[in-house]
Amino acid sequence: MTSPNYKSWPFKEADKLRKRFSKSENIPLRFETGFGPSGLPHIGTFAEIARTTWIRQAFEFLTQRETQLIAFSDDMDGLRKVPLNMPQQEMLTENLGKPLCRIPDPFDACESYSAYMNKKLREFLDSYKFDYVFQSSYEAYTRGDFNEGLAIILQKVEDIKGIILPTMGEGKRSNWSPFFPICEKCGRIYSTRVTGYDAEKNTLDYICDREEGLVKSCGNKGTISIFNGHVKVGWKIDWALRWYAYDIGYEMYGKDLIESAKLSGKIVRLMGKQPPLGLFYELFLDEKGRKISKSVGKGLTIESWMSYAPLESLLYYIFQNPKQAKRLFWGIVPKSVDEYLTGLNNYEQLDAEKQPDSTIWHLFNQGAAVPDYRTSINFSLINNLISAVGADDIDLILDYLKRYDPSMDEFSGVIEDLVKKAMNYYRDFILPNKQYRTPTEKEKEMLKRLRDELENYDGNDENEIQSIPFSVARLCDESPKNFFKTFYEVVFGQERGPRFGTFVQLVGKEKALSLLDTAAET
Ligand SMILES: [Zn+2]
Repeated sequence: MTSPNYKSWPFKEADKLRKRFSKSENIPLRFETGFGPSGLPHIGTFAEIARTTWIRQAFEFLTQRETQLIAFSDDMDGLRKVPLNMPQQEMLTENLGKPLCRIPDPFDACESYSAYMNKKLREFLDSYKFDYVFQSSYEAYTRGDFNEGLAIILQKVEDIKGIILPTMGEGKRSNWSPFFPICEKCGRIYSTRVTGYDAEKNTLDYICDREEGLVKSCGNKGTISIFNGHVKVGWKIDWALRWYAYDIGYEMYGKDLIESAKLSGKIVRLMGKQPPLGLFYELFLDEKGRKISKSVGKGLTIESWMSYAPLESLLYYIFQNPKQAKRLFWGIVPKSVDEYLTGLNNYEQLDAEKQPDSTIWHLFNQGAAVPDYRTSINFSLINNLISAVGADDIDLILDYLKRYDPSMDEFSGVIEDLVKKAMNYYRDFILPNKQYRTPTEKEKEMLKRLRDELENYDGNDENEIQSIPFSVARLCDESPKNFFKTFYEVVFGQERGPRFGTFVQLVGKEKALSLLDTAAET
């Protein structure tokens, strides 16, 4: 079978993987995503895992080969700063500099800080039905997964310094070591300094005397094995170590990690293996185009998105070109939902060989579980309807929709859910911004004329109805653009709105007349 030339980005990545690993014995082919358990999983974690999953599925589809996704949690990482949103600030300050897996859980629910965060991560991934294998760094170190790699790093410590030191400020170079021994007395990792290496015995000499910021030290000196979790390596080396130990074939990362990925790539080559393939994605920005700060973590969460819109609409948005910076704020919800619904509407009509390039194919398990949705009803239309008739009565909205498009009955489950979500969206984001304007005398005249022309019209053709406001504007010597603006500001309390023809068909002529009556009388 000749393989088709799919154009969507997961296939392009999958194709690179196929070429690179065509003769590879590594089965299953491993993908990795990393997670820093100093905070809760967020939308960035979600996006990275979703995107990696799409590439995996494309690769499996192309090659019929097995893959695996390792969700790696760096719970050996030390706590450098107390996150402001955590309880027990004093306890955490006391434990600064210790690995996250050795700090008590500030929520008193699990055996450690990171055990709590890891549990949350797994619940999070499970709730979205991601397929992954969880790997704790602490367990990997302790079990000895990294011992072979650690021994190589110790043998090549001078070469590694040669790679890393030029990237550091001069002041930091003299004390730098790839290794962070965990102090046997106080348990801290960021308070120790390596004073000697023994590559034959695989041990390090260290002293616990570094004090940076609020991280304390205890003065302890010792000699310690580099194996089985007594020592961790700094994170760029740690990244290379994981690639090395688990033969990772693919890992993507945010644009902010490009330089780190290059260094980790050099290190894994030095250790004797190739770095994984991967792409860097652009980070999410807020409404004003600023980088969304992880530590602030406010605003848009996946749970809250799901109260306003289907999860698939978020996935649809995340799927689009990962190399393009995306703004993530509530204003994008209606457009994302409508693009998703349009995608669903069009899917069945695509030629079978074109379907794998559709976002919908990737969203629904290689096209195997695409829901049937063929109706013109979308999120904007529902929002316009709610704007016109109010957000109090879901049955009323559904009645209007049924009259507008009787075929919706077939998809009533999906639409009912959409209406509920649209009502939440309307209440929280549209209603608070509405500003109804009192029309001038001339505008009142025009609205009244529009009302009368509509009343006199006997037909039921959306385009003919749409032409009415144009002829009224012409007769009143007003530009259509200004007239529509007046109409939306007075009737809807907003600058833009639905096509007039769609609006009348949606609410029915009677309701449209009464809305225009009210508008002309204000
Ligand atoms: Zn110590």
